[in-house]
Amino acid sequence: RFVSLEGGDFAGKTTQQRMLGDWLRELGHEVVLTREPGGTPLGQVLRDAVLHGADVDPRTEALLYATDRAHHVHQLVLPALARGAVVVTDRYLDSSVAYQGAARELGEQEIRALSLWATEGLLPHVTVLLDLDPAAAAARRTGAPDRIERESAAFHTRVREHFLALAAAEPGRYLVLDAARPAEEIHAAIRARLAPLLPA
Ligand code: C5P
Ligand code: MG
Repeated sequence: RFVSLEGGDFAGKTTQQRMLGDWLRELGHEVVLTREPGGTPLGQVLRDAVLHGADVDPRTEALLYATDRAHHVHQLVLPALARGAVVVTDRYLDSSVAYQGAARELGEQEIRALSLWATEGLLPHVTVLLDLDPAAAAARRTGAPDRIERESAAFHTRVREHFLALAAAEPGRYLVLDAARPAEEIHAAIRARLAPLLPA
């Protein structure tokens, strides 16, 4: 089974991923926790380039994310799924559609098509969207000024709105949760959604 966690910065994706991993392991599943960008050694190089490297234009940025995703899927995700592991990724293609496609205005359909080409069409069984008002997200920031303040409030609002639109367009794949709720409540809602899908 393949699960992605999506949402803006400071929505709590990494926290929920860890809680989900602990629960799945207790149930006896092989669990692979990973992330984009940066889920592989090459991906880590691409992550450093796109997040901390030279000034990249939006198309170069989109291609770097797509390269990271192609490598991540082929090197790590598909082999793990083939073994029967549950793979939980902190960000996947919906992040590219929302950030590069919508917020950077490269075109949602084009970015989605690029991503699907890169991954040979691999989509998650479930995508959890941790939805949070960008002002609330900014208030959670502790000592990472380059992460959320690099972009305008309007940019983060566009990202949020496009995540919500993606979720509305694919209700069968998405679980939308209010990220302002306590982490334990969010975790319980994710468990309830995943339980029926887990391998025996
Ligand atoms: O979630 P994580 O902290 O790994 O994301 C790193 C940064 O990359 C975030 O600030 C996020 O906004 C940005 N990002 C992006 N486009 C993506 C994925 C992440 O702009 N497709
Ligand atoms: Mg995170």
